[in-house]
Amino acid sequence: MESRDVVLKSRPVGMPTPDDFEVVASSVPEPVEGEVTVRNVCMSVDPYMRGRMVDRKSYVPPFQVGEVLTGGAVGRVIASKADGFSEGDYVQHNYGWREALTCAAVELTPLGELAAPASAYLGVLGMPGMTSYVGLLGAAELKDGETVFVSGAAGAVGSVAGQIAKIKGCRVLGSAGSAEKVAWLEELGFDHAFNYHEGRLLDHLRSGAPDGIDVYFDNVGGDHLEAALFHMRPFGRIALCGAISQYNDTDPAPGPVNLPMAIGLGLTLRGFIVSHYQHMAGDFRSDMESWIQSGQVVYKETVLDGIDRAPDAFIGLFTGANMGKMIVNLE
Ligand code: NDP
Repeated sequence: MESRDVVLKSRPVGMPTPDDFEVVASSVPEPVEGEVTVRNVCMSVDPYMRGRMVDRKSYVPPFQVGEVLTGGAVGRVIASKADGFSEGDYVQHNYGWREALTCAAVELTPLGELAAPASAYLGVLGMPGMTSYVGLLGAAELKDGETVFVSGAAGAVGSVAGQIAKIKGCRVLGSAGSAEKVAWLEELGFDHAFNYHEGRLLDHLRSGAPDGIDVYFDNVGGDHLEAALFHMRPFGRIALCGAISQYNDTDPAPGPVNLPMAIGLGLTLRGFIVSHYQHMAGDFRSDMESWIQSGQVVYKETVLDGIDRAPDAFIGLFTGANMGKMIVNLE
């Protein structure tokens, strides 16, 4: 059978462009013993992939120019030579950026009976949802009733982080890049949502949290981190989840000018990767499923159709094109 796959044509310099990617046809081999052939239903694009497009050592190895990209995806088995996998089964795996594939069965996670649409396993019930959960409850050690600021609040991670903080009885501030996103955050119950393109960040924080911030969930870095540092309460915690404002920088960005404030305030700044908190996966899954069922957590997706749109979906993460999780539908 045939697939169409997205290859990294060149390493982006600054903001990625469609020319950095190429969609190529490939032929998918028949499965041999222990292998399964999968047709992808949907795939994820994630900000961390930008880091993998740079040729440098990191916590995941770089993508290679000329090779098909990889990333989270959900698909259905169409042929199986492996025990435990039958035609029609939903599986999750890391062979996104392509329509179909054959791989070893051990590389697939069976999803069983779906508790939500397949794409939710790439968002609220998947890696981004778990990042929100472990970032707040693990890295930031959130306590009930605290004041929390979430940046990138209308994205996949941020929108769920804000809702978890609300469930924990917190006062929640959120920043996002448009009036439409701010309106959605208000619907989600954020106490003070604002468009960071308008006014000064620090003024927004002061009006939304007159007594200061206990926990800052940082998805953005740069000016957001600096503004949050200016407004932290003593012994506050900052979970360093991402720094998307810096991922396309061609020169290293300076650190926050006010970092020494962390000394006198006794702040904790803790970087984390979701996989550091694998031990919380079971709690995450059961809490999140029940919050979704009860309506305490709702989620949104921005969906682009077809493998040809995958580069646009990825680039859209850096232009703010998504509300909630950015998904590429491949059905
Ligand atoms: P999102 O769904 O939040 O999409 C990215 C969003 O970032 C955009 O929609 C845009 O929204 C915002 N953005 C883009 N450029 C800028 C900028 N220059 N300044 C401010 N905001 C910007 O992505 P995710 O939820 O998947 O990821 C959010 C963050 O979490 C990222 O930093 C990512 O790297 C990090 N992450 C970390 C993980 C970990 O294990 N530590 C795991 C998963 C994600 P807007 O319109 O509001 O600008």
